[in-house]
Amino acid sequence: MIPFNVPPCVGDEIQYVSQAIKKHRISGDGEFTKRCNKWFEDNTACAKALLTTSCTHATEMAAILAEIKPGDEVIMPAYTFVSTADAFVLRGATPVFVDIRPDTMNIDEQLIERAITDKTKAIVPVHYAGVACEMDTIMDIAKRHNLFVIEDAAQAVKSSYKGQSLGAIGDFGCYSFHETKNYSMGEGGAILIKDKSYIERAEIIREKGTNRSKFYRGEIDKYTWVDAGSSYLPSEMNAAYLYAQLERADEIYDDRMKSWNKYYKTLTPLKEKGLLDLPFVPEECVHNAHMFYIKLKDIEERTSLISCLKERGIGAVFHYIPLHTAPAGKRYGRFDGEDRFTTKESERLLRLPMYYGLKEDDIEIICNNIEDYFNK
Ligand SMILES: *Cc1c(COP(=O)(O)O)cnc(C)c1O
Repeated sequence: MIPFNVPPCVGDEIQYVSQAIKKHRISGDGEFTKRCNKWFEDNTACAKALLTTSCTHATEMAAILAEIKPGDEVIMPAYTFVSTADAFVLRGATPVFVDIRPDTMNIDEQLIERAITDKTKAIVPVHYAGVACEMDTIMDIAKRHNLFVIEDAAQAVKSSYKGQSLGAIGDFGCYSFHETKNYSMGEGGAILIKDKSYIERAEIIREKGTNRSKFYRGEIDKYTWVDAGSSYLPSEMNAAYLYAQLERADEIYDDRMKSWNKYYKTLTPLKEKGLLDLPFVPEECVHNAHMFYIKLKDIEERTSLISCLKERGIGAVFHYIPLHTAPAGKRYGRFDGEDRFTTKESERLLRLPMYYGLKEDDIEIICNNIEDYFNK
């Protein structure tokens, strides 16, 4: 059996989690959370990083910080996870879906401007598979129209665009540490804040609308309810698990990149024969090997390859059903322009097993099985 995913674990997690327990300080914002926050601040250009309970929650925080209100519109691709839209729908906003580029599966930056109305408040680029959206164009549009840019960088920790870390280019960036992501704490995420003027409000929103963070720093002598907020800070036990992986982030990165490159090289002859398509990484992007996908002729071929691989014990899976075709997507959102690529390309895409510790021999087996499928 070769599973589709194995949650990352480098070995030190158990020791760090037990340290957190022994200190009798397992609620949020202890030593490990602070170390994680600092790691993101040291490794990206953000002014502040705050660990959260999920990427979904980090996006909700960004929506509150951007003061998204009922009737506002937020531009995003339909080819994404529900959380990208949900965080804004919860504030009463309308997700406006724009078609993707078939080469990267990212939002087509050329179609954003025509989707802007006087209700538009933000653009939410999603860096699919850890490959950056065309950020110069997106930042330029946002600046000219006075819009927030909230990066859904759930899959993009350690990826960059023209040397800038993803998640720290827009006003806010959201990371995920779900068990399927490159670095994990089971469930968890982080919000990255570019402009320091938003830090204090972010701390308050994350702490149930109270100024408890200021209180802990000794800046005030009692804490109180000062704003709307929720409970977005994770337990120290989860942060301890994540910190073990951040300490060895390069090792995880290199291991995944080795697997990605092995897939790419081994499957290139099939691409050359015109049997499948392989991922494209634009020159200005450094990706993080979050995902390895192939694209087949159509949904029928994909379905039959999935079941063929399943019979041989290989976990290959498809990905997002475009949000504008989902019941909630129809109710809450709208698609601007024509769906030329979103549905078509999403139906062709197949994700192959990819995780820290995936064996080279297993990649060989997977690729041989794909080749067998085309030969039969
Ligand atoms: C994983 C993922 C999310 C959600 O992350 P959680 O931490 O599970 O909330 C959001 N957007 C994208 C693009 C993702 O891949």
